[in-house]
Amino acid sequence: MLYPNIRYNYRYMKTISLLIPAYNEEQVLEYLFPRLNALAQSQKEYAFEFLFINDGSKDATLDIIKEYAEKDTRVSYINLSRNFGKEIGMVAGLDHAKGDAVVVIDADLQDPPELIPEMISLWEEGYDDVYAKRRSREGESWLKKFTSKQYYRLLQRVTRVPIQEDTGDFRLLDRRVVEALKQFRESQRNAKAMFSWVGFHKKEILYDRDPRAAGETKWNYVKLIELALDGITSFTTAPLRLSTYAGIIISGLTFIYLVVLVVRTIFFGTDLAGYPSMMAVILFLGGVQLISLGIIGEYVGRIFNETKGRPLYFVEEYHDGTAPKKARTKN
Ligand code: UDP
Ligand code: MG
Repeated sequence: MLYPNIRYNYRYMKTISLLIPAYNEEQVLEYLFPRLNALAQSQKEYAFEFLFINDGSKDATLDIIKEYAEKDTRVSYINLSRNFGKEIGMVAGLDHAKGDAVVVIDADLQDPPELIPEMISLWEEGYDDVYAKRRSREGESWLKKFTSKQYYRLLQRVTRVPIQEDTGDFRLLDRRVVEALKQFRESQRNAKAMFSWVGFHKKEILYDRDPRAAGETKWNYVKLIELALDGITSFTTAPLRLSTYAGIIISGLTFIYLVVLVVRTIFFGTDLAGYPSMMAVILFLGGVQLISLGIIGEYVGRIFNETKGRPLYFVEEYHDGTAPKKARTKN
């Protein structure tokens, strides 16, 4: 398929950047690109930038993107030096996106590009963050649906920022939200909570999340649990309080028990039959202490990681589709 080598007049048109993180997506790109093209065709009053972030793919993803980039000036790409994960990939994308608005969209077509015109019109009405909320989640196991629901509930309960349920990263962000998000340089990130944290005018639209067009999900339960823990520990110190509360309650109860024991010994003598109950108490307290230590460790680990102040990612190659050819570093 041949795409027109479109020349936008960037000075007079608003630009919409589509930020597309891609990790081993060679199978879906051939479906994705025609739909992006159709979207751009239907929104002729806007200039489009398709900014792919190749997150260290091990397959032909980068080659395919490069092929598109050669034929189409709307296509830009960032090739990260290795796999950094989608969250960091998005940071790289936000740092490089040039649009007046940026739409974060998955490469696997689970986020239908056909929703973007509606997002754009709401943006034109003055909303800064138009996010797509899932009405249904086809092609996902009930376990994933259930755990994600419970996780949102928990997160909502322990953090003070309202977090939009059933909302992924598929959203349109105004330039000023993008500039706000760019200032978040922490390495263990939870984008969802950040979107809420920055505020601005938000608007939800409902959609049906499609199953992945091709290829396989990059998530597994270990990764999801890590993301979930990151989500909680990066946004609230509530778990640290948990051990304080547990400590207060347990020492309170123990004190009462102690008084009871002393009084009982004075009036009724001892029977020395405390071994099983003592074991139980010791083991229980040991468990509580280990959990508390773990929680503290979780935060100390975060402090350790953030104080290193490492750069979030490295760019192996950045191709700016709109830049004049000779200005490019390679080729
Ligand atoms: N992705 C990425 N880096 C990763 C894992 C995933 O850039 O390490 C991208 C992936 O290519 C896709 C999006 O993030 O565009 C969502 O990934 P996936 O579809 O695997 O997650 P799911 O939709 O199952 O939550
Ligand atoms: Mg997906």
